[in-house]
Amino acid sequence: MSTGFRLLEFLPCLKSWLTLPPLGYNCKTALVCTWEGKKRGQSGRNQRETFIFLFVFDCLVVPGKKKVWNWVSYLEEERMPAAPLKLFREYQSFPQGRNGFKAGMKLEGLDPEHPSQFCVLTVAEVQGYRMRLHFDGYPECYDFWVNADSSDIHPVGWCEKTSHKLLPPKGFKEGEFSWTSYLKNCKAQAAPKSLFKTLSTPVTPSGFRLGMKLEAVDKKNPSLMCVATITDMVDNRLLVHFDNWDESYDYWCEASSPYIRPVGYCQETGTPLTTPPGYKDSKAFSWERYLEETNSQAAPARAFKLRPAHGFQVNMKLEAVDRRNPILIRVATIVDKDDHRIKIHFDGWDRHYDFWVDADSPDVHPVGWCAKTGHALQVPLGKVDDLILLPVGQACPTPGCHGIGHVRGPRYGTHYTLVGCPYSEVNLSRENLLQDRLSGERPSPSSSMPKAKRPETPAPFLLGAGESSQEDSSQSR
Ligand SMILES: [Zn+2]
Repeated sequence: MSTGFRLLEFLPCLKSWLTLPPLGYNCKTALVCTWEGKKRGQSGRNQRETFIFLFVFDCLVVPGKKKVWNWVSYLEEERMPAAPLKLFREYQSFPQGRNGFKAGMKLEGLDPEHPSQFCVLTVAEVQGYRMRLHFDGYPECYDFWVNADSSDIHPVGWCEKTSHKLLPPKGFKEGEFSWTSYLKNCKAQAAPKSLFKTLSTPVTPSGFRLGMKLEAVDKKNPSLMCVATITDMVDNRLLVHFDNWDESYDYWCEASSPYIRPVGYCQETGTPLTTPPGYKDSKAFSWERYLEETNSQAAPARAFKLRPAHGFQVNMKLEAVDRRNPILIRVATIVDKDDHRIKIHFDGWDRHYDFWVDADSPDVHPVGWCAKTGHALQVPLGKVDDLILLPVGQACPTPGCHGIGHVRGPRYGTHYTLVGCPYSEVNLSRENLLQDRLSGERPSPSSSMPKAKRPETPAPFLLGAGESSQEDSSQSR
């Protein structure tokens, strides 16, 4: 899609903003100035406008100035390759269709913070092939972003059909909720079934069954290999739950995941196995006895189809969701890798914003994904005229931050201060400030089962050859 077409589309909203730039300011700066004047209301609508606005901002050709940023010249300039398309999973790559979801549509979906819970959700905002989902009845700070083809979302009625428990909107008692009357009362539309991803291949029997035991990596503390149970199965994915831990550690994975191994793997490889907290005889743990005590079966070894390491290489470029500010997708470089993860660096940003992500994460996309799906792309810092010409005090002080997003979620579309900035020093060290949505608890490092972060040293078998984990495998977390 050409820039010209995009501009035409946005012309009506632009027209009202555009004023003549003062002498010496270029046309982009003029736009930013009018936007600054406009955005003070901080309503959701303004947030959207901001976004559209920055899209236009990034696309504008400034006469006599730098030309439009584009991937082709950038890769040439940087002398680095784009990550080849074949390295991406189907859902990371260019989608076949377009995103048909519209703001206001209702659906059912997984809570990323409580992956065992299916919840009542509303599409709050759509950007290209992505959308922001809102938990009905809860504050916007818990909203999260997914791709339109996410496996985590389902049409209204899916839970009932598949015998899954649906967590109703806040304020409803269990058993009180009915979609039919809820949609009527809200005057809302259920997202049409046709918009949801359907599996391209039929689900084949995997050998995994509900309740089977296995050994699995705690993804929040990747140095730990723990006793786990399969507590749910949907299509070709398994829900891994850690015995005697709360559900916030659960995750969904495929049979090919490097994070799951059959019972006995740790013993065979000399990897320490973390036994369930509170288990009476953790020093002399025996699977045989544990399976008997819990009246359960081990998942058969043949069901595990460990996939080969990914093919991504250091210095390859791609487009990645900014985890600190997930409305944004940025130009990124792979700066490190192990067998199943890559370390993302946002071009032009300080290295302390770098983070590790699974190579098969749905938030990682090939070069050109944003352009193809109609999503704004945040170009490398310093590659467009930044907001340096803005009057002092009107822009966020963090270098490179356009003031989009807010550390407290999408209720505030923009910020001007370090306190609200997702990138500021003060907020960088605070991983998760939110109370737990369901229990209302704040994450506390001193509680018996904190969600405190341990160093992200993966279990030894996740590292490439020649590397070793320095991390001990203590039983406490
Ligand atoms: Zn900022």
